Amino acid sequence: MAIQWTKSRVFSKKSFLGLMALGLVAACSTNPATGDRQFTALLPAEREEAVGAEEHKKLEQAFGKFMSGPIAEYVEGIGERITPHTERKDVEYKFFVIDDPMINAFAVPGGYIYVSRGLMALASSEAELAAVIAHEIGHVTARHSAERVSQGFLVGLGAAAIGAVAGDPGFSRAAGLGSELYIKSYSRSQEHEADSLGVRYSARAGYDPNAMAKFLKTLDAQTKLDGRLEGRKQSSFNYFSTHPITSERVTRTTAQAKEFSVEKPATNRHGYLKKINGLTYGDSADQGFVRGNTFYHTDIGFKFTVPQGSKMVNSPKAVTAKHSNGTIIIFDMGKTKDAIAPLSYIKDVWLREKSLGSAEAIKINGMNAATAAFTGTVQGKSVTIRLVAIEWAPGQFFRFQMAIPKNVSSSFMDELKKTTYSFKKLTASEKNSIRPKRIKLVAAKSGDTVATMAKRMDVDELPADQFAVLNGINVNTPLVAGRLYKVISD
Ligand SMILES: [Zn+2]
Repeated sequence: MAIQWTKSRVFSKKSFLGLMALGLVAACSTNPATGDRQFTALLPAEREEAVGAEEHKKLEQAFGKFMSGPIAEYVEGIGERITPHTERKDVEYKFFVIDDPMINAFAVPGGYIYVSRGLMALASSEAELAAVIAHEIGHVTARHSAERVSQGFLVGLGAAAIGAVAGDPGFSRAAGLGSELYIKSYSRSQEHEADSLGVRYSARAGYDPNAMAKFLKTLDAQTKLDGRLEGRKQSSFNYFSTHPITSERVTRTTAQAKEFSVEKPATNRHGYLKKINGLTYGDSADQGFVRGNTFYHTDIGFKFTVPQGSKMVNSPKAVTAKHSNGTIIIFDMGKTKDAIAPLSYIKDVWLREKSLGSAEAIKINGMNAATAAFTGTVQGKSVTIRLVAIEWAPGQFFRFQMAIPKNVSSSFMDELKKTTYSFKKLTASEKNSIRPKRIKLVAAKSGDTVATMAKRMDVDELPADQFAVLNGINVNTPLVAGRLYKVISD
């Protein structure tokens, strides 16, 4: 899954400057945080609150409820410690924690600031989280989000994605909605500006100004680790191509931190870890879990298993499995307004224009289903496309799409057939026994190393690397006896 906090499409500020040069200079205002003259005519400060409130409502629909209780209050407290040190006093800031495994933080106009539980799990101190919050506040004070709305991206993207998942909250969460909307349109220079404002605000609030660079470094390490975990080759890993390289942000913010001398800078590592102890890590019950080769959705109540040798990824819109022999399986959901049979769903809805020779109605573990196969092309190679639609409820279908290279063995074809028939309703005991992973704290004993602590990590791959990144250290960093460290546990 993508690391959203760093992911940002570049929309050059040049086009803005171009507009200004075309005689719209009169519409500019001077930004109180940056001192820049900005083009803000399309979204006056008074309108920001109204736009923000509207976007906030959409976000709530998209993500479901925001987290409440001690975690939410804690984040609010950190935010309120920072806001008095910002330039814009006309904004009333509001802080929210999104129940989302992605590493994500963003702001919308009107002072709405969001951080995800995925980001909180990665941060190792209050100062690091404060730096992220301060960075997002920086986007608000520098009016980046206001510029973005003026450009139309925020509203446009938001409406499209929300429309796609309208209605039926259970399925919307299953099909998932990424947190991909709001963070994409900051420019490189805006990210740098928010970084430096973030360092400024966290230092003024008494936090260790080095925490921004430290968190960015961890974020960079996590992004690289995700690349390894998802089996991407380093060469094809062009994640940063449209974004300020994180290492560049680390260098800049390290230098910026030196400009501030904070007396007894607050880090609060211990207190922070205590707060996030028990926090859900990775997917939660309403997002579904990948465990080995099986995908479980305990809220909706189904599972299926893909062939050995497949890499399965649970992303917002689909579960995707890629086998080492090139076979791709995409599992997602389709809906129709009226109840129709799976066979006509495949023929008339899913593949309207295809003439299907071999579509047939089948039963899968008592559920009505249909399947069809035909020859298609994936990346210039001829493949067999196998479709399966399973009726879950009237008008609701779970779907497999398999793209199978022509040269796979007949025993592998049998494996794929098994995948189709592995789609089952969960039993009550399965629903109870499959639970999300959580952040737990372990105090290092003398002699403990990253390698010994890695044994406590309930992860399938690279436990030592995952432990190191999660704790913002390297695999070779000596552990401090008696110190608390984060592990991922069932
Ligand atoms: Zn940013």
